[in-house]
Amino acid sequence: MTRGAIVSYFQRKIPARRERKDSMPGIRVIVNGAKGRMGQETVHAINAAEDMRLVAELDLGDDLAAGAKDADAIVDFTTPVVAMENARIILSSGCAGVIGTTGFTPENIAELRELAARREKGLLIAPNFAIGAILMIRFASEAARLMNEAEIIELHHPKKLDAPSGTAMRTAEEIAEAWRKTGVTPQPPAGARQPPRGLETGGVCVHSVRLTGLLAHQEVIFGAEGQTLSIRHDTISRASFMPGVLLGIREMVRRSGFHYGLESLLFG
Ligand code: NAP
Repeated sequence: MTRGAIVSYFQRKIPARRERKDSMPGIRVIVNGAKGRMGQETVHAINAAEDMRLVAELDLGDDLAAGAKDADAIVDFTTPVVAMENARIILSSGCAGVIGTTGFTPENIAELRELAARREKGLLIAPNFAIGAILMIRFASEAARLMNEAEIIELHHPKKLDAPSGTAMRTAEEIAEAWRKTGVTPQPPAGARQPPRGLETGGVCVHSVRLTGLLAHQEVIFGAEGQTLSIRHDTISRASFMPGVLLGIREMVRRSGFHYGLESLLFG
């Protein structure tokens, strides 16, 4: 994708709801976790997309493996406990997979990377589909080349089941990777082994806040002598995730193998 194409892609708004007829061509998509908050938003976005057709809205108790027979792509927004099981079903189905469910461990990712390596259709796991959040991670990785102290505060609605968020863990990994690549020695977080100081990962302390009134927010704070640098992203509405989800579906039906993070499609 060219830079101009990426810009116009994320500036496009999802139009108002428009149901599609069964006979219409297009990418046949299943939404798993369709009754959930992200699932509902995804159903709306797919119904409004000219080149997609929603073939099933599945949720807890439905048979994903059976439903997959009539689909080209499966989008999964369920819960961290079933994420790995669903990923395995998607892999064995032969459908393209777009998984937004969070809670995968680095070991899970390594296993899925291996399992998906030689498959014909793509599998995307993306902890965050919002373009602003992707840019926040990129800017943080850039800042880490010159600043060696960082902490992250992630803030979410109280119904979010996992903590820290997948986005926060991903940001910490990217900062640690930038430190490693540029030979910067991270300043060990003071008192990091005390639980109230948050979860230390790769030399970055991650703090989780869960409060009514919040949706999804994150601040990455770098510190240096006499100054701090804050990079903040706020998700105001779940519609922010949808251009990324649609991009993921379109790319996974035409690409093969494993893809981690929306940035792998945008900058890879
Ligand atoms: P939610 O509202 O709780 O929705 C989850 C849905 O999945 C519910 O309808 C739930 O049913 C259903 N479900 C549970 N187990 C299932 C199974 N085995 N098979 C099929 N469906 C199942 O949660 P949400 O806010 O939509 O979030 C869903 C996931 O997406 C979370 O992991 C969240 O962190 C993640 N997320 C990712 C992004 C991103 O950009 N990647 C953005 C926001 C959220 P019941 O209610 O009956 O259990």
